[in-house]
Parts: sequence; structure tokens; C-alpha cells
Amino acid sequence: MSAVEQHGFQTEVAKLLNLLANSLYSNKEVFLRELISNASDAIDKLHFLSLTKPDLVKDDPVFKIRIRADKDQHTLTISDNGLGMTLAEANEHLGTIAKSGTEDFLKHMTGDAQKDSQLIGQFGVGFYSAFIVADKVTVLSLSANAESPDEGVQWESTGEGTFSSGNIHREHRGTEIILHIKDSESEFLDTWRLRQAITKYSDHISVPVELYEEQYEAPKEGEEENKDKQPKFDYVQVNDAKALWTRAPQEIKPEEYNEFYKHLTSDYQDPLTYAHNKVEGELEYTSLLYIPRQAPWDLFNREQKHGLKLFVHRVFIMDDAEQFLPTYLRFVKGLVDTNALPLNVSRELLQESAVTRKLKKALTKRVLGMLAKLAKTDDYKIFWAQFGNVLKEGPVEDYSNRDAVLKLLRFASTANDSAEPQVSLEDYVGRMKEKQTAIYYLTADSYEAAVKSPYLEQLKQKGIEVLLMWDRVDEWLMGNVNEFDGKKFIPVTASDLELGELENEEDKKQREETQNENKDLVERFKQALGDKVQDVRVSARLIDSPSCVVAENGSRMTAQLRRLLEASGQKLPDERYILELNPKHALIAKAASQSDEERFKLWADFIYQQALLADQGTLKDPAAFVKTLDTLLLD
Ligand code: ADP
Ligand code: MG
Repeated sequence: MSAVEQHGFQTEVAKLLNLLANSLYSNKEVFLRELISNASDAIDKLHFLSLTKPDLVKDDPVFKIRIRADKDQHTLTISDNGLGMTLAEANEHLGTIAKSGTEDFLKHMTGDAQKDSQLIGQFGVGFYSAFIVADKVTVLSLSANAESPDEGVQWESTGEGTFSSGNIHREHRGTEIILHIKDSESEFLDTWRLRQAITKYSDHISVPVELYEEQYEAPKEGEEENKDKQPKFDYVQVNDAKALWTRAPQEIKPEEYNEFYKHLTSDYQDPLTYAHNKVEGELEYTSLLYIPRQAPWDLFNREQKHGLKLFVHRVFIMDDAEQFLPTYLRFVKGLVDTNALPLNVSRELLQESAVTRKLKKALTKRVLGMLAKLAKTDDYKIFWAQFGNVLKEGPVEDYSNRDAVLKLLRFASTANDSAEPQVSLEDYVGRMKEKQTAIYYLTADSYEAAVKSPYLEQLKQKGIEVLLMWDRVDEWLMGNVNEFDGKKFIPVTASDLELGELENEEDKKQREETQNENKDLVERFKQALGDKVQDVRVSARLIDSPSCVVAENGSRMTAQLRRLLEASGQKLPDERYILELNPKHALIAKAASQSDEERFKLWADFIYQQALLADQGTLKDPAAFVKTLDTLLLD
């Protein structure tokens, strides 16, 4: 090798390598899946390039992956005649982790092997999984684009922080990964063991995988079996080499779908559900779509790569084609294979193509249909816990499917004693009171704050169900959808809570009476609080609480959203609220009984501040509040 250079791994890689050995001990054979996947990817890429440059493959036109164990050398070699790597590519791709958010991911590591192995599985360790079974890995490669055999590459590492690499002479294109198998992992030198694992991981990929194994020759007729004869070895194809999605769905077993999913995603778990469809006619395509069981840790990172694998006429074209699904379905994995796009389609072309738009429409419908089906099973809870918040982006992002997505949403509600979102809008509408025309909801900072909210008191008494929400995205969502099934969404925090027909004559009369009786009291509060409040009113919604604050037209921002916006640098005007009083409450009566105006002012302030505190969980000036309280207590 000429000019061997020593390199340090990127810090993240070094950390990852350290974790690997301990974390994946229970499922060591996954290294085979990863290395076969990489070989098949490299072949797919070259296949794609060769469409326009057939010369690249002319001296070695039959793509294949070969696996050979050598018991004497204690090595296992996985080789392919795919794209290969240049020295610069090897240094970059085998020395760093390109995935965005790796550092973030590593922060999630707990040191608990069990938990970490799940994270690692999810992350997809790829090439580095070789170090689970090998104490040294040698990579030999020649890029299909190389000008001369002297641009061959040798890369080597023991997986302990550094690797060496340099140019070598190599005659044929493609990559050879030589694993120097650890003494404790000798099982991976046994061909029966390899055959078993390889079949599992490669049956569904379209490239032939060949295993070097002993050929058993039956003795010829009349001949004795020759015990001393040297065993004959040769490469034998062990997989079907038929791309899974091209087969008929009814012939494919669930295990095969699941294995293919793992090949596609490097996820260690089975998917939650999948849908395989072949569509003929004007727009011909096959899609194989999966819903994962677990969200990636960076689901909310907008730069996270997502999208489907695109094939045209069964030829791999690109990964992460995000054009085929809307962003709120970015958790969907899978592939689409179509005859309706040209083989030389680029990302830019995809963006503008009418075919893409049609496919996107069709695939979006497919996924929504898949979810509607899943929603009828217990697994939907798992789905909702993982991806519910992403799906909530749907009704706003995708107007044409708004109703379909709204039906898939789940909420907590006053009808259940549980923070687990289980109620669909259809459930809610189905249970509405006879004269009820609207869907009532409450956004708060947490489930606890929501269930205990004073805004619910009157509705509870009337037996009206209220949807409870406390996720960041809820306020934005509810601010952007007006109705479902012809029923308006109304926040119970609205300053004039419309109860419509739900309020009977009796209620109305009583409300007006209470208002008249307390005119003076309201006026006194207004005087005492001055500019601090926008208005003071007698409340119809309070039963057990002395007071609450509401904002004009219900556009009250939760404290959570306020903090979020302020943290992002937005300047928000101080919010001025309408203070609502419950004159039947002992505390309000006590305030009203104060004859000294200075004293009353303290009471008014106290009542206003505690309403704010109950609503928002914090106060601008807690010390002043405590002081007021102390003064009143020492009365
Ligand atoms: P991923 O496959 O998710 O990109 P890996 O860790 O499995 O991550 O591989 C890292 C990169 O190394 C690949 O993206 C590819 O560029 C390169 N690579 C790995 N194996 C091969 C191979 N057999 N042929 C060519 N390139 C390879
Ligand atoms: Mg890989």
C-alpha cells in the first residue's frame, strides 16, 4: 500500500463503536444484514449510473454479492461488484457518521445496555456493526469511476478510535469487506450458520447473494464413497434474488415483509403495519408502505431525511424521495416503483412532474386508509403515542384530506378519567347532547391543569363533554381548523362562551339576575384594578372557583405557548384579561364585605392574581402576590 495515512474517527463514531460491542450482543448477526444491505445499495447505485454510462459495467456485467468464510485465516469476506469507493469516499463514509443529529442521538444514550441497544437499532449502525463480530476490519475497494487500477483503496481499523487508509492496486471494481472474526464469534465461519442468516436477510433483495460452500457430490453409480477425497468448494446462490415488492402480495409471508422493512430502514423492530399495492391502468405503480413501531428520536427535526425509496422499472433511482408524501406523513417508510417516470428522473424533475403529483395524491390516500384501518385495532394506541403529534400537522397542511385526518386524531376528554388520548371527533359528535351544536375544547399547559381547570365547571355540571389538549401543536391546530362534521370548535375559554340552545330560559334569567345584583361589586373591582384588566364580569361558567381570567374572543394564549414564543425572541404585548367573578363564592363575598377601599383593593388584587396563577402556573411578580396574601392573612 502506498502512503498509508492514520486517521482518527469522528468523535461520534468513536463513541458509537464503544457502545456497540456491549449493546448488540443479543443480536449479533445483524452485521450481515447491514453489510449485505450496503453491498446491495452499492450495486443499485452503479446499476443506476450504468443506465447512462453502460461502459462502467461492460467488463463485469453480472451484479452479485459474494460471501466467503476462511477458517484458516479466521476471516469472513463480503464482496460486491457495485460502485466501490475512492480513497476520499472511504475516508469520509467509513470515518464519520453523516446522519444529522448524531450528537443529539448520543446524548440520549443512558449507559443501560438494554435501552441503548434499542436506540442503536433505531439509529441503524450500518457499517460499524462489523465490529460486533470482528476485531479488525479490512476494506478493499475500487470505484467504478476510477481512471486506473492504482486508485484502489485499502482501509483498515480495529475499531478503537483510529483507522488507516491508502491507495493500492486493485484490478476489479467494487468492494470487499474482510472481517477478522473474533475468537468468540467463530460460528460466523460455519457455512450452515451463514446460510441461515443470509437467507433471512437477503431473500427479498434483487441482487443474487452467493455463499462459498462445500459441494456435496453423490458417488457415481458403482463407485464407493471416497472418504479421502478433497472437499470441493464453490459459490452457490442462496437467495431468490427477486425484489420482494415485485412478487404477488398473497404469496408473501408477514415475516418476509418484516425482514424487508428491516433491510430498508435498519430498524431492529418489526413495523406496526404495512400495505403492499400494485396498481395498473393509467398510472402504473407498486407501493410498499410501512408504519414503524417507534418514532425516530429526531422526528421533529425538520431537516431529518425522510421520504420513500424510488424505483423506476424496478431500477433503484433514489433514497428519501420526499416528494411522494406530505410532510405530516414523514414517518412513513417504504418504496414506490413506477413505470410512469423516466429512468433519468432527477429530484428537480420529480418536483415538477405531474406524475409525482398524482402519485403523491394516491399514496397519501393509501397511508390515510392504512391508518384508518389501524385505528380499529389496539395497535393504534402505540401509533398515536409515537406519531400523533405529527399527524396533527395534517389538517392544516393538507386541506384536501382535512376530514380524513381529523378523523384519525385522538384526544383526552372529560368523558374519561385518563390522560391517554382515546376520543376521536366522531366519538365526541356521537355523544353530543341533544341541543349541542359545537365541539368544546380546552387547551392548557398539562393534562393536570386541563382537568382541574375552572373553565370546565359549568360544562361539567351540564354534562357536556370537553376535549382536553396540552400539546404544543394543539393551539396552533385548533387556531387553524374551524369545524368538523359541520360542528364548530369552541374553546371553553372564550370570553362569551356560546352555549346556544344548551342554555335554557331558566339559566338565562338567572344569569341576568345575578348580573344586576352584582353591578356595584363589578364596578368596585373595575375601579380597584384599573388598567390591569380589560374588563370585569360576573361569570356564568364558575361553580367551585372564585374567579378566572379569559381573553377577548377566546384567543387566550396558554402560558406554554407564550413562553415558547418569547423564548424564540418574539416580543408579545402584555396580555390584558377579562376577570370573571363567581359572586356565590365565599372569597368574593368576603371581598365584597370590605368597607375600607384600600383594604378592598388588596382583596381585588389578590383575587385577580390567584386567577392568573391558576390559569398560567406562574406570575410576573410572585413576591408582590405573596406580600398581598400575607397582609390579608394577618387581618
Ligand atoms: P448507510 O448505509 O446508512 O449510508 P453505513 O454505515 O451502512 O450507512 O455505510 C456508510 C457508507 O459507506 C455508505 O453510505 C456508502 O457510501 C459506504 N459504503 C459502505 N459499504 C459500501 C460498499 N459495499 N460499497 C460502496 N460503498 C459502501
Ligand atoms: Mg448501510
